[in-house]
Amino acid sequence: MKIIDCHIHFADHSGFEATAREAGHLNSTAHLKEEFQRHGIVMAVAMGTGSHNEEPGVSIPMTINLGGTFRLDHWTQPGFICYCCGVESRTLTPGNIAASLPLYEEHLKSPHCVGLKLYPGYNQIYLNDPLHHPFYELAEKYNVPVVIHTGDTAGHRGVLKYSHPLTVDEVAVNFPRVRFVMAHYGNPWIVDATEVAAKNPNVSIDLSGLAIGNFDPDWFWTHYHGYLDHLQTWITYLSDYDRLLYGSDWPLVNLGAYLEIIRRLIPEEFHGKVFFENAVRTFPRLGALLPS
Ligand SMILES: [Zn+2]
Repeated sequence: MKIIDCHIHFADHSGFEATAREAGHLNSTAHLKEEFQRHGIVMAVAMGTGSHNEEPGVSIPMTINLGGTFRLDHWTQPGFICYCCGVESRTLTPGNIAASLPLYEEHLKSPHCVGLKLYPGYNQIYLNDPLHHPFYELAEKYNVPVVIHTGDTAGHRGVLKYSHPLTVDEVAVNFPRVRFVMAHYGNPWIVDATEVAAKNPNVSIDLSGLAIGNFDPDWFWTHYHGYLDHLQTWITYLSDYDRLLYGSDWPLVNLGAYLEIIRRLIPEEFHGKVFFENAVRTFPRLGALLPS
């Protein structure tokens, strides 16, 4: 089965080396390429991360760089990677938004930029803040989804009220022609995230980040049976397998172990949709980047 991983991180970031090792991986392009080939992963959507904001008076888009220095004029990252341009919302102000938007728009003109990524919990700004509205308008103009980090934040500096999945409801209603993707299923607010997706046809869910590290899938399945039962209950309640996307959150988790858990969680008849087809539909630019 061909797989698209809709949520990875692809950054030459010192903290990711130890994180990758804990997950049984190496944070390198060569290692990732090997692992992708082994598991049939043909493409991954990498989330722009890391602060690159060195210029005063403007908000700088967040990109990816494990494949070398990121360049907009030609693609320096591997062919099996595309990206969502990250918005570091805390650097946006009413005074710099006009100067900042063209920088984001430059990314959206690139065929490898398949979406925008917002981190409201880390940036402590609500999704419905007017500073975010022009980004939803850009997403609509360029026909790309807005991926939102929802649920728990890594580390203690995030503020959860901003990343709660219920905050997606309001922007989904106010921007009905924009597709929103709730990353990490709003975990642990699975019930709330399910309701937001059930109510709003323009909201999808990515299944990344529901486990981290390296583990034996059988052990995980037994040890966390209550958690996995809960997930399965609400996935079944939603029963809309067109709106669930496979993602791992590499390098935070072992790819083989995580694939096995999600394979068990999703009824087999929907694997084609969840592991591949939904990604192509949700990220309309992705199809053109797939290997022939
Ligand atoms: Zn992530």
